[in-house]
Amino acid sequence: MPPKYIFVIGGVMSGVGKGAATASIGRILQSYGYSVTAIKVDPYINVDAGTMNPVEHGEVFVTDDGDETDQDIGNYERFLNIDINSVNYMTTGRVYQTVIAKERNLEYGGRCVEVVPHVPEEIIRRIKEAQRRAKADFTMIEIGGTVGEYQNILFLEAARMMKLERPKDVMFFLVSYLPIPKNTGEMKTKPTQYAVRTVNSAGIQPDFILARAERPLDGPRRRKLSIFCNISEDEVISAPDVDSIYKVPINFEAEGLGRKILKRFGLRARRHDLGVWSHFVDSLGKAEREVHIGLVGKYFASGEFTLSDSYISVIEAVKHAAWKQGLKPIIEWINAEDFEQRPANVKMLSKFDGIIIPGGFGSRGVEGKIRAIKYVRENKIPYFGLCYGMQLATVEFARHIAGLRNANTEEIDPTANHLVIHTMPGQERLIREKKYGGSMRLGAYDCTLAAGSITRRAYGKSEISERHRHRYELNNAYRERLRDAGLIIAGTSPDGMLVEIIEIKDHPFFVGTQFHPEFKSRPLAPHPLFMAFIKAAASSFVSTKKKHRAVRRKK
Ligand code: GLN
Repeated sequence: MPPKYIFVIGGVMSGVGKGAATASIGRILQSYGYSVTAIKVDPYINVDAGTMNPVEHGEVFVTDDGDETDQDIGNYERFLNIDINSVNYMTTGRVYQTVIAKERNLEYGGRCVEVVPHVPEEIIRRIKEAQRRAKADFTMIEIGGTVGEYQNILFLEAARMMKLERPKDVMFFLVSYLPIPKNTGEMKTKPTQYAVRTVNSAGIQPDFILARAERPLDGPRRRKLSIFCNISEDEVISAPDVDSIYKVPINFEAEGLGRKILKRFGLRARRHDLGVWSHFVDSLGKAEREVHIGLVGKYFASGEFTLSDSYISVIEAVKHAAWKQGLKPIIEWINAEDFEQRPANVKMLSKFDGIIIPGGFGSRGVEGKIRAIKYVRENKIPYFGLCYGMQLATVEFARHIAGLRNANTEEIDPTANHLVIHTMPGQERLIREKKYGGSMRLGAYDCTLAAGSITRRAYGKSEISERHRHRYELNNAYRERLRDAGLIIAGTSPDGMLVEIIEIKDHPFFVGTQFHPEFKSRPLAPHPLFMAFIKAAASSFVSTKKKHRAVRRKK
């Protein structure tokens, strides 16, 4: 069968779940026995997401092959249960970079290199390359932003050109939004009608409209959309808000979406089995026993709003592990800076069953995080440090247990006496020359686990591979002293040179990883370390917590 391409375009406004929709359509097609890959197009000039602020752009998701991508790639991996590579992520910057490099190499044979068609041609080349590498029957292409913006016009142009080239193999979805203004209480279709006209003016007619809204679509609205958007009623798919994004494929299938897509492409179902997924989704609302996890970080605030997108993979990984153990995850964001301004507030951590300090950069909130780590170490609250969370746990241990006063990480204070975390070899030059883009230690590396460690037990094997994104590392000059003071080096690079995991003794769970395990957690295959952390959180503190809560109630 010739490969099929499905473009997913946003109408009306962003942030209504285009990524989840793309991933869900892919998941449905997989359930019919087809192989699927997914591409994310970010219209930014940034070459990758690594240079974007997480508060503005959300989490930077790292792939096995070391690309710093958009968080939607994480959704694709979680829904499709596949590893996605760098070719599946493109930005305007990346596309132009290739076109300009080709021009410099005379690869255009002396012709004038023009925005059209050379830029869309490069976009198409990348789409086909991703399809070829994945050998995918279906390639989903999510175009970032919404129609009508200048930024994504060249990507829409590429989509139009692909449709012209292979009309039977290309399809368009418009993910739109239907607002329900409070004063009328009526769902409005007009913005969607305008959005369709705007894509029409780019030469594209949607094959399906996904009608995102607070509520399901009713008959009259469906008819309106059909008539004014030039699409049959069958091709308007109701997509109401859901309490868990994992329910989206089930909702789409309830509208028969999978078969409708296959029919349009003239394909038949090779099989149909959404069973494991449905089973998983069914189990979601059932857990009653709560596990309370606190996430101590800094990328939460955007004006008046609190965003959780900066840590989406961590949050998802916690959920996967909790659900798998029949627990209801309650996750709270805690601003580390609060513990700097009001140190006594750190006591609030006692109400949690487990604390996570995720990845991070720079000095804001660092001393607050260190205070939090000291508190959970001393009070035996399960602790999981991810990357920065591991480095700062090492600093805390060095300062308060190993007697290395004022120990620090070079990132924060290069003049500190004891740089227990220091710049990785090779990084000094990059920092000096301000070569920050895509230059950290990135992507999957092997790691050997120490016998008898919590980590080794959690994985059930001694060789693992995990994804990294950092410039600093544990300073080997301090390894002996830290170890003598009781720090466990639970994992290193296979040559033993890089410390990848630390643990401490006599604590229900205190693990810090230099890598980011959250990137590899999948809903149907939770990550072993998150499983172990949640298990420790749910068990070791149950009795204390109960007492605690009971005492509070009496008061
Ligand atoms: N800032 C630290 C480093 O660059 C940790 C990075 C992270 O947490 N991803 O090494």
